[in-house]
Amino acid sequence: MQVFKFGGASVKNAEGVKNLASVLQQVGYENTLVVVSAMGKMTNALEVVIKNYFDQPSELAGSIEEVKTFHHKILVDLFEHIQHPIFKKIASIFEELDYFLSRNKSPDYNFVYDQVIGFGELASTTIISAYLNEIGLTNNWLDVRELIKTDDYYRRANVDWEHTQWKIKAKLDTKVLNITQGFLASDANNFTTTLGREGSDYTAAIFAYCLNAESVTIWKDVPGVLNADPRYFENAQLLNSISYREAIELAFYGASVIHPKTLQPLQQKEIPLFVKSFLNPKEEGTRVGKGFGIEPNIPCYIVKKNQVLVSLSSLDFSYIVEENISEIFKLLHLYKMKVDVIQNSAISFSVCFDNNYNNLERLLQHLKAKFKVTSHNNVSLYTVRHYNEQAISSIEEGKELLLKQLTQETIQIVTK
Ligand code: ADP
Ligand code: ASP
Ligand code: MG
Repeated sequence: MQVFKFGGASVKNAEGVKNLASVLQQVGYENTLVVVSAMGKMTNALEVVIKNYFDQPSELAGSIEEVKTFHHKILVDLFEHIQHPIFKKIASIFEELDYFLSRNKSPDYNFVYDQVIGFGELASTTIISAYLNEIGLTNNWLDVRELIKTDDYYRRANVDWEHTQWKIKAKLDTKVLNITQGFLASDANNFTTTLGREGSDYTAAIFAYCLNAESVTIWKDVPGVLNADPRYFENAQLLNSISYREAIELAFYGASVIHPKTLQPLQQKEIPLFVKSFLNPKEEGTRVGKGFGIEPNIPCYIVKKNQVLVSLSSLDFSYIVEENISEIFKLLHLYKMKVDVIQNSAISFSVCFDNNYNNLERLLQHLKAKFKVTSHNNVSLYTVRHYNEQAISSIEEGKELLLKQLTQETIQIVTK
């Protein structure tokens, strides 16, 4: 049993869907479960729909139309005849979306978010499954919400492993080619839940864990895991192999090539993870697994932009100790700030975080009541694993340094 995951970039248009089919034909698709995300940037487009539903109703219809038109164009490119049943099927999926929005009474943003956002994955897998059937790659479409069960922490639901394991074992025929959705799951009341943005990698790992799969392969628009994001660094190099530990560290510091939650279930069962190019599927890519060191052993760079750096000192020159620190962290948690670096001295404390939920002003107000506060918006956080002198100077050159922190393996630098 092998698990494949194709992300949004791999199926952003009809060419992409055809290429997915070609990858399966080239590498084989026996005993394979294929997990697919929403097409292209459809999750972002559905986020706009949700925002309009709550804040800008006059824009709602237009934003829904964009989502429908995008999928319709792909259908027209993939299927010759407009009479093909897939057209009706996709139309009825989006009728369900309209129906939900017209009937919904819940004011809970996160709940509504999960009910709406899932239509991206439902549409993409329905189209891909029909296309594969059409060209002779007979497959079975599965509704992942009948397989992966979670709590009702909408937008970042937690997997109920026991129930999920049981459902997957009972319902999944591993002998055939199966296609299902990434990112989605359902709660005890069968409402749709999601596993967090970019969560489809994690879906693949959940299935692999429950099925004791031989391997997971995530198919990417890059040759594998590189030592840096090629969008921001020139000459990024392919890592042939890395350990689970290394992959967890890279994902934790923000290497967006693998979702951070993906590694843990795989590591527990020592299931190897391959990261490969969907454009060159026969190439080796990167192997993540037990007993691999990082090869080649070179510095790995990660950059996170749009971070906030906040420095706090006590108003009366008293020490910043456990008590204040725990209070600071309570507030960071309350305002959903994801902390990336902390640094403290006797009377000051600095913290660098993502401001994903627009809570910065409220957090700062709260902190200012107790501390002297300085903050910098839009800073960049560079993390280098396996650093050397040259790597450090390449980052520092020409930038204003705000914070620097070294451990044996990792250096973190915050710059303006
Ligand atoms: P998916 O379509 O599967 O969601 P993503 O676009 O989320 O794929 O991830 C692939 C992208 O991740 C690449 O195009 C690349 O820009 C980025 N990336 C960030 N860090 C790395 C890295 N260390 N190695 C390879 N790609 C990386
Ligand atoms: N479609 C979802 C997202 O864009 C999940 C994923 O792609 O992994 O976040
Ligand atoms: Mg992605």
